[in-house]
Amino acid sequence: MRKVFHFDSPADPYVADAAVLCCFDHRISTAVRKFLKKQGIERADMIIVAGGAKTLASPRNDFEQDFILEQVRMSVRLHQTKRVMVMSHSDCATYGGLAHFKGDRQAEADHHRSELLRAGELLTANFPDISVEPYFVKFDGIWEVTGAKHLKSAPQRKVADTAREIA
Ligand SMILES: [Zn+2]
Repeated sequence: MRKVFHFDSPADPYVADAAVLCCFDHRISTAVRKFLKKQGIERADMIIVAGGAKTLASPRNDFEQDFILEQVRMSVRLHQTKRVMVMSHSDCATYGGLAHFKGDRQAEADHHRSELLRAGELLTANFPDISVEPYFVKFDGIWEVTGAKHLKSAPQRKVADTAREIA
């Protein structure tokens, strides 16, 4: 092998602050990164796949769902993760984008809310001891899904200065 880049990465073992499941859409990556930083999450096990929460809520096949659950299981086992943040986002191509909802942002948000809750319930059922937090990423910020009290120890707090109910 030939070294092509020098960078000193932290080499010590770590406990993950959270596992984060979100879409690979580049448009939301900066918002997610800044949100995690603001939440004080410095060491996240990022599970970045097309669709994010969709892989649990509406998987294309059983393999997809099992694979993502296994990724979370590994984060819990290897990095003692106690918190899972599960995200989907507006205009996600795996849902057919905003066009699938005929441009209706409220209809899109309503649909994603139910998707996120379903993904959260699946996580809670598989990992009863972890906290599960569902979030919807829009182009103006990140919205916590309310009404998810049944997800174990899911925090019920505003996540941004402009946080409002989306549904
Ligand atoms: Zn997407």
